[in-house]
Amino acid sequence: MDVILRIFWGFLSTVLFGGLLGLGLAVASRKLKVEKDETVEALDGALPGLNCGACGYAGCGGYAEALAAGKDDDLTKCKPGGADTLAGIGKILGVEVDTDAVRMVAYVHCIGKEGIASRSYNYSGLQDCNAATVLFNGDKDCKYGCLGLGSCINVCPTNAISKTGDGLVVVHADLCISCGKCVDICPTGVMRMIPEDADFVVACNSRDKGKVTKGNCKVGCIACKICEKKFPEAGYKIQDNLSILGYDNRGPGRADAVEKCPVKCIIPYKEVKVRKASNAG
Ligand code: SF4
Ligand code: SF4
Repeated sequence: MDVILRIFWGFLSTVLFGGLLGLGLAVASRKLKVEKDETVEALDGALPGLNCGACGYAGCGGYAEALAAGKDDDLTKCKPGGADTLAGIGKILGVEVDTDAVRMVAYVHCIGKEGIASRSYNYSGLQDCNAATVLFNGDKDCKYGCLGLGSCINVCPTNAISKTGDGLVVVHADLCISCGKCVDICPTGVMRMIPEDADFVVACNSRDKGKVTKGNCKVGCIACKICEKKFPEAGYKIQDNLSILGYDNRGPGRADAVEKCPVKCIIPYKEVKVRKASNAG
């Protein structure tokens, strides 16, 4: 009888203790519950979830929180998301947005490949453009061109850049998500963004005087001003010894300038649509 009573009391105390513990936990979870912000959740869902940092925040969540809290009023910071994401953000926040802007893609403004652009010495150190520039700003005589060692390749989150095999790199525009990481890491400034519907590009980045550029590269812009003067409505403007092509007003003469350019550094822009699983060495 004694044993049965002890089992009974033991069982009862366990049930009571368990019940009290469960009740305590339920109360605590209600009290400590963090209310989820529905706007943040919706914005997070509208963003692409790449967490690439192109918006300036550590991840999509950070940008969503800043937008929801009104700490950031620039709705266009998610370049990888494009028009759909922008439209989604605008809808959630009740703000009218312009989704017609053309997507921008990275482009290497240099065609000074091996044998075309001269080198002052043979660099054989760490295969990285930023490392190479520590010594005389790189081994190319032109300090504005592509060094071809691929600092940009290493930071591109979508594998959109590959080596051409002749001393340069190329951006595969269909894979580019416009994050700008390659532009930021490139030590020579030769990687710049252009609209994906670009018709022509001045494939040079040299700011040296014409005579110096001519000595460094056979296809460098010598700032002769033929494009600007002969085709004044075409959008070519010489700035800092380099022809810069605008894309907003595409007047007559853009294609004619290709023929007239004495060094042939104006070329048609063709998207490189070849998808590559890995970067060619
Ligand atoms: S674009 Fe810039 S970072 Fe990329 S390989 Fe050329 S010099 Fe290096
Ligand atoms: S090519 Fe440049 S801008 Fe495009 S996804 Fe790669 S790093 Fe970003």
